[in-house]
Amino acid sequence: MPKKPAPRPDDSAGEAAASGAVATKSPAQKALEKLGLKRDIDLALHLPLRYEDETRIVKLTEVREGQQAQIEAVVTHQEVTFRPRRQLIVTVDDGSDTCTLRFFSFYGSQQKALAVGNRIRVRGEVKGGFLGRTMLHPTFRAAGGSLPTALTPIYPTVAGLPQPYLRKAVLSGLARSDLSDTFAPGDLDVLHHGIGHQPLWTLRQALHFLHHPTPDVSLDTLSDHSHPAWQRLKAEELLAQQLSQLQSRRERAALRAPMLQAVLGGTLHARLLATLPFGLTNAQQRVGEEIAHDMGRHIPMHRLLQGDVGAGKTVVAALAATTCIDAGWQCALMAPTEILAEQHFRKLLGWLEPLGITTAWLTGTQKTKERRAMLALIESGEAQLVVGTHAIIQDKVKFKNLALAIIDEQHRFGVAQRLALRNKLQHDAMEPHMLMMTATPIPRTLAMSYYADLDVSTLDELPPGRTPIVTKVVSDHRRDEVIERIRGQIAQGRQVYWVCPLIEESEALDLTNATQTHADLAEALQGATSADGQPVLIGLLHSRMHVDDKKAVMGAFTAGLMSVLVSTTVIEVGVDVPNASLMVIEHAERFGLSQLHQLRGRVGRGAAASACVLLYSTGDAPRLGEAARERLRAMAETNDGFEIARRDLEIRGPGEFLGARQSGEAMLRFADLATDTALLEWARAEAPMLLDRYPHLAHKHVARWLGGKAEYLKA
Ligand code: ADP
Ligand code: MG
Repeated sequence: MPKKPAPRPDDSAGEAAASGAVATKSPAQKALEKLGLKRDIDLALHLPLRYEDETRIVKLTEVREGQQAQIEAVVTHQEVTFRPRRQLIVTVDDGSDTCTLRFFSFYGSQQKALAVGNRIRVRGEVKGGFLGRTMLHPTFRAAGGSLPTALTPIYPTVAGLPQPYLRKAVLSGLARSDLSDTFAPGDLDVLHHGIGHQPLWTLRQALHFLHHPTPDVSLDTLSDHSHPAWQRLKAEELLAQQLSQLQSRRERAALRAPMLQAVLGGTLHARLLATLPFGLTNAQQRVGEEIAHDMGRHIPMHRLLQGDVGAGKTVVAALAATTCIDAGWQCALMAPTEILAEQHFRKLLGWLEPLGITTAWLTGTQKTKERRAMLALIESGEAQLVVGTHAIIQDKVKFKNLALAIIDEQHRFGVAQRLALRNKLQHDAMEPHMLMMTATPIPRTLAMSYYADLDVSTLDELPPGRTPIVTKVVSDHRRDEVIERIRGQIAQGRQVYWVCPLIEESEALDLTNATQTHADLAEALQGATSADGQPVLIGLLHSRMHVDDKKAVMGAFTAGLMSVLVSTTVIEVGVDVPNASLMVIEHAERFGLSQLHQLRGRVGRGAAASACVLLYSTGDAPRLGEAARERLRAMAETNDGFEIARRDLEIRGPGEFLGARQSGEAMLRFADLATDTALLEWARAEAPMLLDRYPHLAHKHVARWLGGKAEYLKA
């Protein structure tokens, strides 16, 4: 089981001694480390954000509004004014025109350098303006001296790390790095043909070029990363990602897991199937077989089960659990929130307890006595199924023989948490099978890249009898109509969710506070009655409530005693109340697309026709922003989770999908999955070939690109 190596306490001392430096690090050195720039190659791979052209001196009359320019000019005037605030104003003349330089903060030494009559070299963005050309806070020095021959790279940096220092560090890192090629011989040609671009550059060429590009290069090809030097780096990076995922797959294949072979006839699995009030969909059946196949082998399964909200993942999980328990092993199911864990617990209890299965329950908020009892059940093996939150992975929790670990809403968990679960069978020198579930379908390019180490099963079919959810985008001005609609649903015995954006520390943002909305709705719905003539109950649920209160509210809603549930996004994941038929999302414009889709998925889970109302408010603005309109439009246009996910990836990029799966460091820095599909395909084909035929190159490549992070990617 690969683990991140623990930092040695003497690490820094050792480094300092090795490099012969003093023991304390300068702020700039610390800043370099903060950026992850520790090795020479890390520095060499730290690429410029953009470039400045200091190679030429231009005339002011040639400069267009908004352009960066470098001029040489004579100071003709200098003054300090105090209106509207203290500032230094300097006028310069380069023979073609004049320009005003403005400084809001300045030293006496700078004033001196800008004395009237001095000839200076000035660089900055030139603004047109009513009163003539100006530059705000330009850089300047005495005129004359040689001009650089390459563009000046501007690197991503952090506070305390000035560009010149970073630039020097990068260049010396580049000079010291071993940049020998790690692609298989002949590969440059293959890649060249594969992506139909200009011949690919070597890594050495690409890096040297990107750190000092010649002034004749088109800056556009550098900024949009289409330049061959960028292509090479993207190919390198994608290959490193594929290789490390492939390595972790192969390492896993060498690990052992309990073989959970399905037992025939009269088993828990068969009995559960027989007692379910519904038949499985074809997709559920197929996915169940894929999982059973994996669990029947002695290699740990790492399977991602993706299925749109309401696709019926829970029953698939329950069936896998019975297979595991049939074989005499324990199963654990972990969910990201207590509400969700509790709901799974109840559902599974309802299905599995009648079959004689003993289930334990673990959460962080549990009373000590109850927890102790649960821990004992788990350690003795009496508990065959354990359901809970993060509490499951604590060291104190000792399983007798955990063979299957199921993680719901897997993107809510981090690497360390998955690793901790994987370690729960260490005492038997094995790992449990892992089934990770997600309701956020993962677009193909992501599945091929970040998730390449996992096998993916997809529930691409909803259970029958669902009527599609109708989604309406409605202005907040029409709130009253929405309330009438709620009244109508309640009268038919249906239930309603009303979701408000999270309160948190952002009161200043003028979000409608859930508490206020709750009070308003209660007033507006006064006198409304439910189908059986009872007065309606309106509940409130938000994340700051005590867990017992949350449970009570959720319990009343699930039991159908409560007609309307006003809540913050705590209900976002997994909550399953089939009788709920209307979802109102307030300030829908503030939610992300996937989140809206998740929320909408709380209705339409039964046979009743369901609707989702997206209430938006433009505030003081005349209309909604483009991105917000785009999201609401997508919601109204499609119920298909894959389509939503694809659009969301377009709008927001991969970060949001990955959630806690990977640390930011492991993100692709250069490649863009939306545009670099051809390179991604190449890297996928290349990785196994390189690892098989040129393992030394493969290892060198991964070490170069991922260094210490490689191990961390394997959970
Ligand atoms: P999700 O995939 O979002 O976790 P659930 O497992 O909560 O979905 O299932 C949604 C609802 O559909 C539940 O009420 C569940 O009992 C029901 N369900 C699951 N599978 C089927 C099926 N094959 N036929 C009918 N209803 C089903
Ligand atoms: Mg679910």
